[in-house]
Amino acid sequence: MKQKQRYFCGVDFGGTSAKIGIVDEQGKLYGTERLAISAGQSYEDIFGMVAHCIRRRSRQLGANLTAIGVGSPGFIDRTEGRVIQGSENLPAFKNRSLVKYLHEDFLLPVFADNDANCAAAGELQFGVGVGYDSFVMITLGAGVGGALVLEGRVFRGTRGLAGEIGHICLDAHGPFCTCGSRGCFEQYANAAAIERSYREKIEKRRGTPGTGARGTGAPGRRGSGRSVSGGKVSDSPANGGSISAESVFLRSRSGDPLAGEVVRETAWHIARVFGSLVNIFNPQACIIGGGISAAGEQLLQPVQEYIADFAWPLPLEGVKIHSAELHNDAGVLGAAAQCLDRLKS
Ligand SMILES: [Zn+2]
Repeated sequence: MKQKQRYFCGVDFGGTSAKIGIVDEQGKLYGTERLAISAGQSYEDIFGMVAHCIRRRSRQLGANLTAIGVGSPGFIDRTEGRVIQGSENLPAFKNRSLVKYLHEDFLLPVFADNDANCAAAGELQFGVGVGYDSFVMITLGAGVGGALVLEGRVFRGTRGLAGEIGHICLDAHGPFCTCGSRGCFEQYANAAAIERSYREKIEKRRGTPGTGARGTGAPGRRGSGRSVSGGKVSDSPANGGSISAESVFLRSRSGDPLAGEVVRETAWHIARVFGSLVNIFNPQACIIGGGISAAGEQLLQPVQEYIADFAWPLPLEGVKIHSAELHNDAGVLGAAAQCLDRLKS
């Protein structure tokens, strides 16, 4: 007998909006809707608006929801769905549960998890992770998120805080990180790091080094200056003008040797981290998601090349390096996909 189709709602909170969509078990997304959120709105205002949207969309679709999944930046407690830390952009969520309001309103199972864990759940259920039991995943963008999928489930740790791969320390004397530590992986592989590294190389070639003198230790990289503070970068012709991480990859593709160096160095840092994780978790695959993963083979190929310097040959045998498959709607799909992952008994 044909099983009845199940539908899940994904709610993906960003700093200034919530994106909402209904997804079926096969990962088909029935459109999305974006609701603007301001920092001044209350918890009840935000969730009242979200609930209204979910109700309207499920009615239009004629879909009885099985569960609702919420994704959000920050540390989210695994039992209560409470935002423990990292809700600076949405102060109304501080120490509040991301599941309580919707659960009481819809009387359905509601789950909440941080955005990187949701991204991994999305790949596991609907993306490049289908067919894998275990993989490690990083999401590269303004920050670096991380997640672990072990034995077919997203591994969440005792309190739901596991998988912060972006804050593995690569150099205790390295640049300060937004988390308060130093030399975190995020400081070598996020968009700002790629942009900064490219500008520094241009400055150096032009003989106009910036201030400070701390290199990243990557191959071919000597200590060059840092001219960034708090993630803001200065913008002048002398330091390469306004350069986005995306444009560094574009320039590398067009043969710009300095951009090529930056791409290889970024890949080297990723390979360092993946290599250690391969030794620890013995996964089947390593997945790169987030905006920067749009670089595709351009990033995967050097990661593949360098990872053998950091992983042991045996656990590395057969490990695939992939880009994430879910792109624009990864947040909503991932938030919904966590329902499938977490409803497993
Ligand atoms: Zn950090």
